[in-house]
Amino acid sequence: MNQPKVKVGVLGATGAVGQRFVQMLQGHPWFEITALCASERSAGKAYADACTWTIRGDMPEHLRNVILRPCEPNIDAQLVFSALPADSATEIEMAFAQAGYGVCSNARSYRYDADVPLLIPEVNPEHIQLIDVQRRKRGWEGFIVTNPNCSTTHLVSALHPLHVRFGVRKVFVVTMQAISGAGYPGLSAMDLLDNVVPHIGGEEEKMEKKEPHKLLGFFNGAEIDYADMVISAHCNRVPVRHGHLEAISVEFAETPDEAEILAAWRDYYPLPQQLQLPHAPQPAILYNEAPDRPQPRMDRLAGSVPGMATVIGRLRPDPLFDYKFIALGHNTIRGAAGGSLLNAELLLTQGYLGREAAALAQTLQVA
Ligand code: NAP
Repeated sequence: MNQPKVKVGVLGATGAVGQRFVQMLQGHPWFEITALCASERSAGKAYADACTWTIRGDMPEHLRNVILRPCEPNIDAQLVFSALPADSATEIEMAFAQAGYGVCSNARSYRYDADVPLLIPEVNPEHIQLIDVQRRKRGWEGFIVTNPNCSTTHLVSALHPLHVRFGVRKVFVVTMQAISGAGYPGLSAMDLLDNVVPHIGGEEEKMEKKEPHKLLGFFNGAEIDYADMVISAHCNRVPVRHGHLEAISVEFAETPDEAEILAAWRDYYPLPQQLQLPHAPQPAILYNEAPDRPQPRMDRLAGSVPGMATVIGRLRPDPLFDYKFIALGHNTIRGAAGGSLLNAELLLTQGYLGREAAALAQTLQVA
């Protein structure tokens, strides 16, 4: 059956995350790009002229001559993916939601608002119902849904199966974050080659106080009751192109043995995988048995949907906490554009893009 796809726009289409959206939306069974938007500096130019394409594979041929639009809510689309910096996202995303568009955002601007879902579809799909609260409260026909920052995404993805079984109480995490996490062009080669920068503005605060607690919290019908746990984070920028590596130590309410932890990861089969959403990796979590894995260059694209899985390894006892392990995830794929795209796929199947779009999922769902 040839049903029309949902029309989508990309805000910030020329940046590191915007390009990922463009790449990942090619050939999507449910969504088609109908507008590419960027700043006033780029608006009016052809996409190929305004965008320095930095990811593997060529810019899609049919989009090279598409004229970039300003980020104004007058585009032919139902849903927009936002890859805007927070300072511009605040105003622009609200204008789109007010005008009736669905907004799937990567920016931090609305992540912590009580009526805005901060979503990882495997972890807290029920938080999607905050959209109803948001619409009632703000009087919007559209909505804003956010995904967490790239280092939180993989920390929480690794912790979630353990938290539901054993109760995570304390976490100590040291991140080694890729250059592309700082956007394009990001840090200069002079700053990063032969070096590690032990500071990423605002990142530790997001991981320690804001995002994991909301993601692992409980939706009580009106708002999220935040999860009760203590997190200490050290965030570092390292000279890796893509892929955030995280060394994680955990203390549990009920201490499991190693086999129980491995089983919790192995048996993890959350909603996006059950629904077989097009960008849901099967499985969501991969455990690598090798003593020196995961590694960014080797493992960031592992799994059935490249860049969407969280790869874990090196589980062992921790003399200070209960256990420690390594987690790895792709920052601009699952940590940004891919996370947002999976949110949109969940929204579609749950009816938040309308009945027609939901029916599209039934006819085109990938087996
Ligand atoms: P980026 O490479 O700097 O790209 C920013 C994009 O926003 C460009 O397309 C730029 O257009 C556009 N833009 C900038 N100012 C604008 C304005 N005033 N009005 C309209 N458009 C404007 O940044 P990024 O790394 O892709 O990050 C995008 C967002 O995703 C940020 O909020 C970031 O925190 C978040 N995020 C990034 C990652 C990651 O791994 N990089 C991970 C998770 C979340 P021009 O080309 O015209 O300037």
